[in-house]
Amino acid sequence: MDRLARSLADTGLPHPLLVDAARTAVAEAVSDGDPASAADRAQAHAGATARALLTDVVNGTGVLLHTNLGRAPWPPPAGGPDGGPDGGHRYATLEFDLDTGARGSRQDRAPALLARACGAEAAMVVNNCASAVLLVLAALAGGRGVAVSRGELVEIGGGFRIPEVMAQSGARLMEVGTTNRTRATDFATALADPAADVALALSVHRSNYRIEGFTESPTTAELAGLGVPLVADIGSGLLDAACPWLADGPPRWLDGEPAARQVLEAGAGLVTFSGDKLLGGPQAGVIAGRADLVAACAAHPLARALRPGSLVLHALQDLALAYLSRDGSAIPFWRMATTPVADLRARAAGIAPDLAGDTVAVPGGGTLPGVEIPSAGLVLAGDRVAELRAGSPPVIARVADDATVVDLRTVHPDDDGVVAEALAALDPAPVPAGTAP
Ligand SMILES: *Cc1c(COP(=O)(O)O)cnc(C)c1O
Repeated sequence: MDRLARSLADTGLPHPLLVDAARTAVAEAVSDGDPASAADRAQAHAGATARALLTDVVNGTGVLLHTNLGRAPWPPPAGGPDGGPDGGHRYATLEFDLDTGARGSRQDRAPALLARACGAEAAMVVNNCASAVLLVLAALAGGRGVAVSRGELVEIGGGFRIPEVMAQSGARLMEVGTTNRTRATDFATALADPAADVALALSVHRSNYRIEGFTESPTTAELAGLGVPLVADIGSGLLDAACPWLADGPPRWLDGEPAARQVLEAGAGLVTFSGDKLLGGPQAGVIAGRADLVAACAAHPLARALRPGSLVLHALQDLALAYLSRDGSAIPFWRMATTPVADLRARAAGIAPDLAGDTVAVPGGGTLPGVEIPSAGLVLAGDRVAELRAGSPPVIARVADDATVVDLRTVHPDDDGVVAEALAALDPAPVPAGTAP
């Protein structure tokens, strides 16, 4: 199977997708009693997979706003990437099947690749994780009860509060357990009440805070075994706790962060997560898990209101292909998060040796509270952030302990020259922290 998959490498697809093509081809060839046809069939399947990806096309239909081709192409954003002949965004196979010429679904490509990358049966994409939770609750529990631990009735920020999202969805919140201790038996008791009509159990990752001390929470496996689907809002979008896209495996600071693959393996019916947190993609929300539950979400009228555009789907497709290729270096978040401190120190010394110093970076985005990532950068005496911010392009620094820190973990190496120029332009010239300015 592996040899057959490798023979398809010229399609440019990631290895796991070639293995899928090889498996399907072999199964078909065997069931047709024609094993010799496996290679040709595999080539055809891999070719079809590659052709099914969202791709730019030349629109010769004369239909200016062709819905299947993504409606209007648009002009390039200033400083943005070059796309089509005008430099902007061009017609693409957003809802178009290249093989048949018929209408396709925008939920077929990037979502399917994301599902493949986290071991889900199916997935769909909406505008953000808040919409993902709203849609799941409306589609699977509208007018019915949803059991949630009192310790997980969280506010994520920006007004995303679980009880309020629940109210908007039309589902009824069934609070279970206490703030610090909730057991599986608390859920079982709530579910046993026929009047409560519980449709789902919901677990919500405490993304941005911790509860410590006298605490207890049911495991995913316990919640998944209650007889109703478990929906796990994991928030951060870590696809797989083993991080197969990182050569050195998961960094230690990820310990304990829930991951889509493992939460689904433990029995959750669905997971929901953001596109722009640990997933490292554009703003989006992903619903992944059981095919029947995803289909029920996709069929709900809110799905149309929350659907993403081709720009986001294209970016998510490239991102999912990078994950499937196990190429974390192609994902800026993971590349930045795992750059060795020694590399950052060397870059800092190259920019301004007297200002180079060790710093502390954080994941941010309301994820992994309290986690610190050792880092390095430039450390200047005094508060110089406003001066750096006024430059062109602006350099956004932070102040810590009466010093100004430019942390290089979040600076692309190509921008080191920009940082060097911004520092050189400061008047009076910067001096190392701890020296009298
Ligand atoms: C961040 C987060 C959300 C909200 O995600 P958005 O993509 O910003 O809408 C919802 N749930 C959890 C657990 C989160 O961490």
